[in-house]
Amino acid sequence: MASDVVQEIETLLGRQAVEELDLEALELAVRQHVLQLAGAAVEQRLNADTSDERGSRTCCRCGQPARFAGRRTKQVESVLGPLRLERAYYHCATCGHGYCPRDQHLGIENTSLSPALTRMTGTVGALVSFQEGSELLTELAGVAVDAKQVERTAEALGKGIAEDERVHTEPLDSISLPQTLYLGMDGTGIPLRAEELLGRTGKQPDGSAKTGEVKLCTIWSAESRDEEGIPVRDEGSVTYSAALESASALDTAAESSPFAQRVWREATRRRFCQAPRRVVLGDGAVWIWNIADDQFQDATQIVDRFHAKQHLSDLGKALYGPTAPRAAQWAERRKEELDTGKFRALLTAIRRQVSRSEEARRCLHYFQTNRERMRYLEFHAQGLCTSTGVVEAGCKVAIGTRLKRAGMHWTVHGANAIIALRCSKLSGRFQDFWERRTA
Ligand SMILES: [Zn+2]
Repeated sequence: MASDVVQEIETLLGRQAVEELDLEALELAVRQHVLQLAGAAVEQRLNADTSDERGSRTCCRCGQPARFAGRRTKQVESVLGPLRLERAYYHCATCGHGYCPRDQHLGIENTSLSPALTRMTGTVGALVSFQEGSELLTELAGVAVDAKQVERTAEALGKGIAEDERVHTEPLDSISLPQTLYLGMDGTGIPLRAEELLGRTGKQPDGSAKTGEVKLCTIWSAESRDEEGIPVRDEGSVTYSAALESASALDTAAESSPFAQRVWREATRRRFCQAPRRVVLGDGAVWIWNIADDQFQDATQIVDRFHAKQHLSDLGKALYGPTAPRAAQWAERRKEELDTGKFRALLTAIRRQVSRSEEARRCLHYFQTNRERMRYLEFHAQGLCTSTGVVEAGCKVAIGTRLKRAGMHWTVHGANAIIALRCSKLSGRFQDFWERRTA
């Protein structure tokens, strides 16, 4: 094969002087030719091995005998280019099922993409749109996988990951637990296709919805400190789990909500309950504290400071107009009161606006209800991270950057597959899934 390669390069180059050479064109042409040669060699080697003919009969999955019915060819796209693979084919007359035992061994059952190309397709599908993913595969790997195929493959992988995640809750690793673990929850809307929205209630004037709410759980540690001694999220400590699913269980239901169960699985994988100190962070949403009260009774509950301040900015704008300098000034003073523990002054200032603003009334209620969760001075003294948007950033990283891009409209199952794929990649869990899948 080595001499074949040299031969190919000679043919491509001809008698051209190096100075006249188009190196880029040469690189690409050589890659294509070398891969083709290698592909042909692999094809030959695999097809020469007919040990997958295990006699004239095997046992079908229905329990009845399946008859050997010759060798069949299947074209598989691979990182070496297309491969034509011949495999022994068995057919069961009882149930009508036909199959090639070798496909399972090679990992090409129910797919026309090879394992390495499947993994690459999952990588691009998790990061960019299916169209962009297809273009990246062509440009970077020199393989042709159209957008539809990227979509199907990435979704199938994501679906597999989502199923795998439900049953694999064993702790991730044996590294020692940090002193404090943080668990954050948040919700974020993603655009859904019109047919998926029927019957969903939302924020549109007529009560209908344009988006579905993805709920996200993220766990991290923050043992590191910046120059001012403020806790900083530890590099590589963050994991995510998310889905478009409900966080509220019916009162009559014996089981907790699908999202509450997801949170529990993630906490189990991270050994959250075994950490010496446990903190649950969220915005003010009631479902978050319900899950925390239910599952992590002795964890410290903290309203993410980023969210609390967001409420004050919004109220400033509602009171004085979105661009008025006074709106920002008013909010700044309130944020300072919040940071310095002057909670009474903060409540008084908001209460003063209640008679003229419905927003202020809601805001007052929010700060009153969550008061215990906003003892920032105290939390600080304990060296706890009160967050400056770690959870919010998690939502953006895990969901927003991939699922909220212009022009995207998701089906629920499509979105959940890509969310599962993304969370698994971002949490460093993809490899584990992949090894289980091919084991
Ligand atoms: Zn059968």
